[in-house]
Amino acid sequence: MKKKTVRLNGTKKPKKKFKYPKTDIEWADFTVNLWWGCMKVSLGCEHCYAEKDAKFYYRIPIWGKGTSRRKIEEAFIKLDDLQKEAASKRVTYRVFIGSMMDIFELPQKLIDKNGNKIEDITTAHLRYELFKNISDHKYDNLVFMFLTKRPSNINKMIPDAWKIDPPANVFFGTSPVDKGTAFKFIEQLLTVKGNKFLSVEPLLEEISLKPWLKDNLINFVIVGGESGGDREERFNPDWGRIIRDECLETNTPFFFKQVDRVRAIPKDLQIRHRPIEVYGCAATACKAINDESYIAMNAKATKAPKTTK
Ligand code: SF4
Repeated sequence: MKKKTVRLNGTKKPKKKFKYPKTDIEWADFTVNLWWGCMKVSLGCEHCYAEKDAKFYYRIPIWGKGTSRRKIEEAFIKLDDLQKEAASKRVTYRVFIGSMMDIFELPQKLIDKNGNKIEDITTAHLRYELFKNISDHKYDNLVFMFLTKRPSNINKMIPDAWKIDPPANVFFGTSPVDKGTAFKFIEQLLTVKGNKFLSVEPLLEEISLKPWLKDNLINFVIVGGESGGDREERFNPDWGRIIRDECLETNTPFFFKQVDRVRAIPKDLQIRHRPIEVYGCAATACKAINDESYIAMNAKATKAPKTTK
């Protein structure tokens, strides 16, 4: 029989705190990085917070061409722990892969935390291991949010089986920031099968997503302005309203993240829908958006958070 956790003085033993803090990237629950490091490829990369954080926490260069990526040793341990915790609580956790990397970057050499070369594997091996574990149903309580600025690489890098029958707990996402990147990135993303999302941030000009929102082609849209850098005050809340209305019209979950670091989020943009279920998510996402109580529950005022990636 299970022992009661009552201590000698009669008080209950405090619950053990989960060792991983939730991420302050509000549309996810946790972030996991297989490696740190990347190379700038788009307008949206200009004020990349991941690069700044990497320079601050890790002195060895891991950004740009010709550098190696830092392997994160604990990544798979963290995934196992998150899965165990989520299964024991009978919940799903949304896991952003990754806040300090781009999962669909071309294969790069690896170094360890002390800067020593890792000879036998590249970032491609880590990506393969993750995809294999997902295919083997090791993480069925985790929903993976793969966000990339290289959507044309997705079909080249995912397992062949995913091109026919993609896992229900994977979302493929990309980050358009203006008309040009919207057209290019979204068209590339739409060649991928499975759940798809857009993180439209930092939004740098007025764009319409309408052509791509019909028929639930996109399952989740995040919008936000830039926080930090010379483009910070550029964001016009009306740009957010245009996409908000397009999402409402097409029953696409809409998540407004931030205006910038200074300006508060206008009341009518305080909307934070999330796709709520993993399995068959398109249908449940539509249900969520039509449910007024769900909208009210998720539409909370927020202070402007950390910079966008
Ligand atoms: S914004 Fe993303 S893709 Fe661009 S450099 Fe940073 S991590 Fe890489």
